Amino acid sequence: MKTVVLAGGVGGGRFARAVVESVPPADVTVVGNVGDDLEVLGLHVSPDLDSVLYALAGLNDEERGWGRADETWQARDAATELGAESWFQLGDRDLGLHLARTEALRRGEPLSAVTARLARAFGVETDLVPATDDRLRTWVATPVGELSFQEWFVRRGHRDEVDGVRFEGADQARPAPGVLAALEGADLIAIAPSNPFVSIGPILGVAGIREAFEHRTAPAVAVSPLIGGRTVRGPADRMLARLAGGTGPAQVAGCYKGLIDALVIDEADADEDAGIRTIVTRTLMSDRDSRRRLAEAVLGLPV
Ligand code: GDP
Ligand code: CA
Repeated sequence: MKTVVLAGGVGGGRFARAVVESVPPADVTVVGNVGDDLEVLGLHVSPDLDSVLYALAGLNDEERGWGRADETWQARDAATELGAESWFQLGDRDLGLHLARTEALRRGEPLSAVTARLARAFGVETDLVPATDDRLRTWVATPVGELSFQEWFVRRGHRDEVDGVRFEGADQARPAPGVLAALEGADLIAIAPSNPFVSIGPILGVAGIREAFEHRTAPAVAVSPLIGGRTVRGPADRMLARLAGGTGPAQVAGCYKGLIDALVIDEADADEDAGIRTIVTRTLMSDRDSRRRLAEAVLGLPV
């Protein structure tokens, strides 16, 4: 059984890990978000791809919730002492990855090829593919003006309310090699419990990917990032309230109208109508058992 997972960063990485702990990792393709990508001190950083990569490789820092485990911060401290900007934190080990990727991109290697190479180097058997090799960047409209994704999310700590999102470059962006073939050959397509607007939105913003979804032959199921109407972390609940008018299963399903056949929701949200077929389970991925339970609820769908 071939599974495709659409994933953002932390929620996406946790869920991708849950899936590959339950089925052979090589039978899974993860399509990752690049709308969060940015340059930091001259380096190309792909935060969401890296969150998934570290999670799949078992190298992610569970406590901090982002980045690599066993991290040190000497390069950041040295750069800060010398007057460099440091609002986007990169640890020393993480920096090593960004150096390797940036050098490869400058040589002309596409992001998808670099990502595949990094994944293999970490011993990851799952295919991790960026949604596109083309430039696609998320912008967020707020009461203080339009902000680049990371300016809003990290620099300003996503304190500004969001009035809309825009995916610069999405119109021209082509799906990265392997994305359409994976979607066409899938037995199941799963959307991770990632932020629907700024993690999954930019992936589905690539016209070719959205069309492949609309013409899919495999069932597609999304996992809600909400538990009891609240996010585990991050601004998805506030965004749903403001942009979709509520924080229930119906609003999550509404983000994927016409693109999913079922929504996996938490027991805490089960008494609300989603307007679509729901699968109810406990969706908090706090350990291996809870990851497995969620993955099985998703993968157990009749195909
Ligand atoms: P980011 O790109 O790093 O912000 O991460 P994602 O967009 O992939 O994931 C963020 C979302 O993951 C948040 O809305 C969280 O509520 C959700 N999330 C994180 N952990 C869990 C979990 O264990 N269960 C569920 N259902 N959602 C989770
Ligand atoms: Ca993200």
